[in-house]
Amino acid sequence: MKLSLVVPCFNEEENVIEFFKETTKAFKDKVDDYEIVFVDDGSKDKTFLLLKALYEKTNCVKVVSFSRNFGKESAIYAGLEQTQGDYTCVIDADLQQRPEVVLEMMQILDEDKSIDCVAAYQDERKESKIMTLCKDSFYKIINKISDVEFYQGASDFRLMRRPMVEAVLNMKEYHRFSKGLFSFVGFNTKFIPYEVQERAAGTSKWSFAKLFIYAIEGIVGFTTAPLKIPTFAGIGLMAVSFLYLIIALIVGAVTYNISAMIAVIFLLLFLSGMNATFIGIIGEYLARTYMQGKGRPIYIAKEILK
Ligand code: UDP
Ligand code: MG
Repeated sequence: MKLSLVVPCFNEEENVIEFFKETTKAFKDKVDDYEIVFVDDGSKDKTFLLLKALYEKTNCVKVVSFSRNFGKESAIYAGLEQTQGDYTCVIDADLQQRPEVVLEMMQILDEDKSIDCVAAYQDERKESKIMTLCKDSFYKIINKISDVEFYQGASDFRLMRRPMVEAVLNMKEYHRFSKGLFSFVGFNTKFIPYEVQERAAGTSKWSFAKLFIYAIEGIVGFTTAPLKIPTFAGIGLMAVSFLYLIIALIVGAVTYNISAMIAVIFLLLFLSGMNATFIGIIGEYLARTYMQGKGRPIYIAKEILK
């Protein structure tokens, strides 16, 4: 099998048939050996019935149907598990990502054996300024505090060689953040710009709130930096408490007015600082247990010659 497509679908009854048509049209005479793995992510509309009909009528379609909505990340995982292609592409069902771009990606992998993955990034964002600002800030923050690099504007739309797919499947963590996982597994990735199309039909399944929660998923899943906040705050507060004590005593000595309040305020600041520092220390151990608990592989080999 040359190519597998993984298509997560959530309430996409207006798009799945159109997607299939457009894809087969684009692949005609260009790719002869491909499969399309649709994952129905607990749709409440006719998505599954339409996919089932496609499955019965054609011989290049596979369908995974979820018992409820597990989210796009889980759908991608389930889809990847079913793929057999040398190349595998994750693509949305709403035709915002054109199947023609997949051909472009394939050509790059065909021509350059050193490249393992071609990922598309949005050259020009077709969204509100505030949304762009939020997304840009997210990338800035996460790239500063995480060891894994996140490519600005990159989407899940990408074509991967089999070893990379296997590596992503080996990351079995429950809270998934694909952009981070793709980056974590490494491999030589080439980024190409693409133009996002308007949704063929229906509306986006991502609200601002959902995106915000997803961004937190990315940060919490890929860095334990926030757990260091109490340590820094605590040490800072303890330093401030001493500074306060010195200044208060000097002022008190000069004005002959040393009250017990000084000791109370000092102790309040100092003990709060100590508390936060201890929480921070616990956080450090928690961070290590947390990362270990994810069971991520210690290394990922692309090839082993022996
Ligand atoms: N999707 C999914 N499960 C969800 C939300 C979305 O499988 O819980 C699918 C959706 O059907 C589409 C793709 O993920 O094929 C991208 O979703 P959408 O178009 O809503 O996102 P946007 O393009 O607005 O970022
Ligand atoms: Mg979309």
